Amino acid sequence: MQEPTDCIFCAIVAGRAPAAIVYRDEHVTAFLDLFPVVPGHLLIVPNRHAKGLTELDADAAARMVAVAQRLAAAVRRSPMPCEGINLFMAEGPVAGQTVFHCHLHVLPRHGSDGFHLGGSFLERLNPGRDDLDTLAASLRSALAALE
Ligand code: 5GP
Ligand code: ZN
Repeated sequence: MQEPTDCIFCAIVAGRAPAAIVYRDEHVTAFLDLFPVVPGHLLIVPNRHAKGLTELDADAAARMVAVAQRLAAAVRRSPMPCEGINLFMAEGPVAGQTVFHCHLHVLPRHGSDGFHLGGSFLERLNPGRDDLDTLAASLRSALAALE
């Protein structure tokens, strides 16, 4: 995909906008979030513009997860207080995406960080086994139909 001229993460990857870069290689760049929800909040982005996970090249997606794993290990070795890690990715406004260049959030977690996942993530639905089986079957069909 052609790089959009107004994409802030493309500008960061290209060095046209400032960022506190922590890691980069030929596929991905990781930098600190400008408006962190917890200290050390990191973003990992593909170097080549992709709007969301669905458009993302599979190799870049795999690289993003591998780099998240390495960054999580590095955070744990750094002086930053960290007892756990959350990974988060949003695709589409309804899911909370606000910057439309795919990115994986890496959130170092600490018991006193005051960060709470949205209440609805903790309130669970309770579908029956038949509903789960029907849904799984339709997803298997959709998977099989992918090129
Ligand atoms: P989303 O809401 O799309 O999942 O996450 C977008 C993230 O990008 C937010 O956490 C936001 O703070 C971060 N962000 C937005 N603009 C900038 C920027 O110019 N630089 C950096 N480093 N982070 C940004
Ligand atoms: Zn971009």
